Amino acid sequence: MNSFDVLVLGGGPGGYSFAIAAAKRGLSVALFEKERLGGTCLNVGCIPTKYLLDKAQLLARIRTLTGQAIFREAGSFSFRAIQRQRQAVTGQLVGGVTSLLSAAGAEVVHGEARLEGPGAVTCAGRSYSGKAVVIATGSSPVLLPVPGAELAMDSTQALELQALPRSMAVIGGGVVGLELASAFAAFGTRVTVLEMLPALLPGQQPEAVRLVCSGLQKRGISLVTGAKLLRLEACAAGRRAVYAHNGSPCSVEAEAVLMAAGRRPNLCGIDAEALGLTLAPNGAIQVDGNQETSLPGVYAIGDAAFGHPLLAHAAYAEGEAALAAILGTPRPVGDTPIPSCIYTTPCFATVGLSAPAAQQAGRAVVTGSFPYAANGMALAEGASGAVYVVMDRDEKTTLGVTIVGENAAELITIGALAVTQHLTLADWERLIVPHPSLAEMLREAALDAFGLAVHKR
Ligand SMILES: Cc1cc2nc3c(=O)[nH]c(=O)nc-3n(C[C@H](O)[C@H](O)[C@H](O)COP(=O)(O)OP(=O)(O)OC[C@H]3O[C@@H](n4cnc5c(N)ncnc54)[C@H](O)[C@@H]3O)c2cc1C
Repeated sequence: MNSFDVLVLGGGPGGYSFAIAAAKRGLSVALFEKERLGGTCLNVGCIPTKYLLDKAQLLARIRTLTGQAIFREAGSFSFRAIQRQRQAVTGQLVGGVTSLLSAAGAEVVHGEARLEGPGAVTCAGRSYSGKAVVIATGSSPVLLPVPGAELAMDSTQALELQALPRSMAVIGGGVVGLELASAFAAFGTRVTVLEMLPALLPGQQPEAVRLVCSGLQKRGISLVTGAKLLRLEACAAGRRAVYAHNGSPCSVEAEAVLMAAGRRPNLCGIDAEALGLTLAPNGAIQVDGNQETSLPGVYAIGDAAFGHPLLAHAAYAEGEAALAAILGTPRPVGDTPIPSCIYTTPCFATVGLSAPAAQQAGRAVVTGSFPYAANGMALAEGASGAVYVVMDRDEKTTLGVTIVGENAAELITIGALAVTQHLTLADWERLIVPHPSLAEMLREAALDAFGLAVHKR
């Protein structure tokens, strides 16, 4: 029997970051991974999509500058070379995680682990015991149960394409669908996004959503909302997606179909019923504020756990909460604001409450905004978009920040700080930001909520 303080199932961002942090605090840790360390995030999620989107955005910028006769030649490119280099970057990061785990002293066991009960795991015919167990088994793409679903590819397969399809229908206008739509459209694929809901990004700051949608459409992406997929069929062009739109049957033909209609928690090696492990209605593992499941001493974090959005940084935070609880110093994630980004062109980033959500929660709000078009650095860089800051009208505290445009995902950290710390108007006024910088727009938008922005009428 191999005995450890903690057994960790899954080596994605939740599992590996937990294992490193726990080992650095003196706990003995065994981490089980059945595929590749880094999980969805490093291998088929966050990083590979960002690699593609970065090249796509660079290409679009070069083409814009060529259109202005500033550059002399339009960007021509090799998609195969982009894909090769993407794999190299992923490989480098996976190697980095491997060496961090080893340097911290965590033991990595390659193979599919099976949870036998609290404190008991088997893997590759060997038994392991732990004072605590952390389930970090992640999630996998869902194929909608419609006839012909097997004709579609999922996000993992789309990332592996070695040649660009001439056209692509993307089923699902969520983060994954929009990011891949944005990348392939910039590389020249004709993209149609079919979203079942009546609008994209429901509940978000309405002006920001309009800006994102018009930005995507300007880049040639067709957005169809209220479109319920009925079936997929083979046709001369490749595939036909038949959908109901406002009750009438419609269809779109494309060389390839990407199904990006959600993800389901991975419970392989975990027989919830036999173990008595409580699941939420969506099949994710139910946890309390300390990430502890219905089984004492068994914790769940990341995409496999119910509660927070399916994001790598939420998985990191939940791992920290589980570790704090195991060490006897609980620090739940609770309602700490979690930023959320869509790395499309234009990029969308948000944290805290949108104005409608704040109003629904009974707050009296004022929303300030500031356009990229009035910011010197944005003009110098050819960037466009807008910043929105939602403030409590009476307490003058920051409730939410939404940014659409270049560097939104970097800038939103300032918003996260402002919302987490309940920054007041007086705090924003005291803040000195470098000039010229895109960050100036956040301060201006906060001041604009009370009619005090300087570089805006
Ligand atoms: C295309 C795409 C783009 C994304 N972009 C972003 C982004 O930009 N930012 C962001 O924050 N999030 C993004 N995400 C989401 C992010 O990847 C996930 O939220 C994150 O990876 C979840 O981490 P995790 O540790 O819970 O699970 P995972 O990363 O899924 O890792 C789980 C690991 O557990 C292993 N495993 C499962 N069962 C067992 C078992 N029984 N035994 C041993 N090993 C097991 C799996 O092989 C896997 O490696 C993206 C996702 C996708 C699909």
